[in-house]
Amino acid sequence: MANPHPHFLIITFPAQGHINPALELAKRLIGVGADVTFATTIHAKSRLVKNPTVDGLRFSTFSDGQEEGVKRGPNDLPVFQRLASENLSELIMASANEGRPISCLIYSIVIPGAAELARSFNIPSAFLWIQPATVLDIYYYYFNGFGDLIRSKSSDPSFSIELPGLPSLSRQDLPSFFVGSDQNQENHALAAFQKHLEILEQEENPKALVNTFDALEPEALRAVEKLKLTAVGPLVPSGFSDGKDASDTPSGGDLSDGSRDYMEWLKSKPESTVVYVSFGSISMFSMQQMEEIARGLLESGRPFLWLIRAKENGEENKEEDKLSCQEELEKQGMLIQWCSQMEVLSHPSLGCFVTHCGWNSSIESLASGVPMIAFPQWADQGTNTKLIKDVWKTGVRLMVNEEEIVTSDELKR
Ligand code: UDP
Repeated sequence: MANPHPHFLIITFPAQGHINPALELAKRLIGVGADVTFATTIHAKSRLVKNPTVDGLRFSTFSDGQEEGVKRGPNDLPVFQRLASENLSELIMASANEGRPISCLIYSIVIPGAAELARSFNIPSAFLWIQPATVLDIYYYYFNGFGDLIRSKSSDPSFSIELPGLPSLSRQDLPSFFVGSDQNQENHALAAFQKHLEILEQEENPKALVNTFDALEPEALRAVEKLKLTAVGPLVPSGFSDGKDASDTPSGGDLSDGSRDYMEWLKSKPESTVVYVSFGSISMFSMQQMEEIARGLLESGRPFLWLIRAKENGEENKEEDKLSCQEELEKQGMLIQWCSQMEVLSHPSLGCFVTHCGWNSSIESLASGVPMIAFPQWADQGTNTKLIKDVWKTGVRLMVNEEEIVTSDELKR
């Protein structure tokens, strides 16, 4: 018998910042009666420690070699893209054979060709954008009339630009792929953006789903008429309110496991006092920068929960990676390698969030009512910081010195 529910196929890049909002969207679709198949790599699936146990959600996995120990870096993106596209075709055919035909494909920016593939199977598709609408607009303008100007001014620190429907943007507010040292590097990412924007423009009825909401970006959602953006956010796990233990709540799916002692530690702290410090799942800092953060936190006199991720290569942190004031840090605060971030942000003891302003972290902090201290690194984080500081006024920005370091005094301030 044919499947009576609409069946969505969602495919995204296997990084935490991509998986979390896509899984959240899956849960919402299931909540309104759809079935969802979530396609990801075997490696990413094996690291989802809190698989959302939601009826109607199925995983379909494919190999990118990582589960067998193959290391993948940003330059391997084309390999992932090829494997993902091959997997999509197989999955669409297999689902049809099983009597659960795919009704709609939802894909992320990093899977070029997904829209064409869906069209070849006569399936509607939608593109899930996991950054703010403002950033998608900026990319659109970059490829439509403003690219030459931005490129020609990319090294001018006093450069600022007015783009229709957006706040005035200075150089530091633009995506890092256009300005500064990233501009020649991430050409895979830029090429993917350009391709997707072309696809969106060509579609008669383009569907770009954005992890934002109307009241947050009312102008940006409508700034570029051709893009026809639809807000589907905030795609943030719920059920963590008032710091209650939400271990049964189907979470976004952490790509890591570990102790949850930090929840007990948070409970022991007075309301609105804890400084939570985390720079997401990708950014890493030099030891010099880490030492400045450490001293700034100690001098602030506040309790802090500081997330320092283990090294990617699985090596234990070595003696030379230890901070000089490790013992003092452990007296005043708690150092952890991973946490369930929404649970932490929802805890009443939280005072503020020192963040790299990845979009998920930003919108999770907004949703939890936690003010931010922005320390942006790359990609969309500078633009997100601009929105947080100047448009929504829900945070402040740390300034770097001439060596591009945020000093302990600046953090303490
Ligand atoms: N995250 C988490 N625990 C951590 C660190 C990160 O749950 O210890 C989650 C965080 O809640 C967010 C995602 O990982 O949903 C990170 O995405 P973001 O866009 O903020 O930054 P990225 O890691 O992509 O730079």
